[in-house]
Amino acid sequence: MNGNNVLDTPLNLNSINMQSLKPKLNRIALAGEIRINTSSCDGCGKCVDICPNKVISLRDLSDAEIAGLPFKGRVKVFFKGRRKAYVQNINACISCKLCEKNCHESAIQAGD
Ligand code: SF4
Ligand code: SF4
Repeated sequence: MNGNNVLDTPLNLNSINMQSLKPKLNRIALAGEIRINTSSCDGCGKCVDICPNKVISLRDLSDAEIAGLPFKGRVKVFFKGRRKAYVQNINACISCKLCEKNCHESAIQAGD
């Protein structure tokens, strides 16, 4: 979890020392992983509706989470509200990528 993607599914990098690669890995969706850019998401809910397996849902960010967003993300919250998509059930994902293809904000990366 980082300030840019507070709702992302966390990467498990604890077992290997790859700190120098971590920023790059945080921008890549690995197999069986859905990454949602919270700053870009406007909470429209299209990904929730189109996902065949109810992997994604919506929730309201807390004040602390909003404070941790970069400027772009806080501006989006101001205009679009604090409701954001998040991954609630990654085990049900079948990597169909419908969410990624239909997000008008390009906020989702779905792994293969
Ligand atoms: S479709 Fe994109 S912008 Fe809309 S809720 Fe999902 S991630 Fe957010
Ligand atoms: S890749 Fe398919 S199954 Fe996985 S979250 Fe996206 S729409 Fe749902």
